[in-house]
Amino acid sequence: MRLYLFCIFIFFICYQDVIAWGFYAHRLINRQAVFSLPPELMVLFKPNLAYISDKAVNPDRRRYAVQGEAEKHYIDLDVYGDSAIFKLPQSWPEAQIIYGEDSLRKNGISPWSTYLTFQYLTYAFQKKDRQAILKLAADLGHYLGDINVPLHSTENYNGQNTNQHGIHGFWESRLPELYAKDYDLFVGKAEYLTNPRKEIWEAIEVAHNALDSVFSFEKLLTDKFPDDQKYSYENRGSITTRVYSKAFSLAYHQMLAGQVERQMKKTIKLIADFWYSAWILAGQPDLTNPAPNFRPPFEIDSIETPQDSIKNVREHQSLFTDPEALFWKSLNKNLYYWQAFRKYCGRRPRFLPRG
Ligand SMILES: [Zn+2]
Repeated sequence: MRLYLFCIFIFFICYQDVIAWGFYAHRLINRQAVFSLPPELMVLFKPNLAYISDKAVNPDRRRYAVQGEAEKHYIDLDVYGDSAIFKLPQSWPEAQIIYGEDSLRKNGISPWSTYLTFQYLTYAFQKKDRQAILKLAADLGHYLGDINVPLHSTENYNGQNTNQHGIHGFWESRLPELYAKDYDLFVGKAEYLTNPRKEIWEAIEVAHNALDSVFSFEKLLTDKFPDDQKYSYENRGSITTRVYSKAFSLAYHQMLAGQVERQMKKTIKLIADFWYSAWILAGQPDLTNPAPNFRPPFEIDSIETPQDSIKNVREHQSLFTDPEALFWKSLNKNLYYWQAFRKYCGRRPRFLPRG
């Protein structure tokens, strides 16, 4: 009976739009990138702008359902010691030989899998497969977004090792939600990248180097703000949830001196450059005149049968702070919901956010 009531409770929350704010940055970034494309690509991307933007969060939804997905969103560079970025082979086969696939997957494979997605996109352009192009372009936008987030490059991804629990969502969700509307996100025209793989690794290096300020500024401010001023409570639909207060968020945002905006802009430019480069490498196929009944792919296309599922899904992504956890909302198989739901519950005894 208690489980039944709990399911009703979860179902109720699922349909509160208010928890969708965590997707905000990914959607905004993918959307903005479209406006940097040349007319030859605009013919496909502009009419499907809503798809490119909405499906920017598909890869996060899949983390809970598809084996091998979760580790595509991060790399724990610190486990490889000093100068990891220079030691790790940029080629996946080479990295596998040196470290072994299991070990690589355990610590995240974002640079290699992002590059692979770019290659798939190039292939989709070659085939002029418009549905595949849209799906892979949306996915690639997500992965490029993740590699530009500093906390996606460290083992201490949510401040759990430094008593800064919650910093992940704070940096990548709370700050953009509060301030992105004032950002200048115009990045100019997409440009051809001669070495896309190198660009990925350089982006991760920049993001990783930003970690120092991400952690140290939060700590500095935490020492100044008593707990009752660091956090506040906000109503999200029918739920009252603890969030970083506006005063604390503003102070942190100012100390970071435009870091979030810089990383967002950088991501937008990178996404547009990657889409454009894939199209160039594919021989600049003509994308005009799609079939009259052309539709972007349906969401279920990107979901595979759940297997081992969520083993690498990271702890900061709690039910309340990370709405993509509610992925079953977008699926249509009851059995699938239930299996996934049970796995999800099995892994997370706590359902309340810790900050
Ligand atoms: Zn992600």
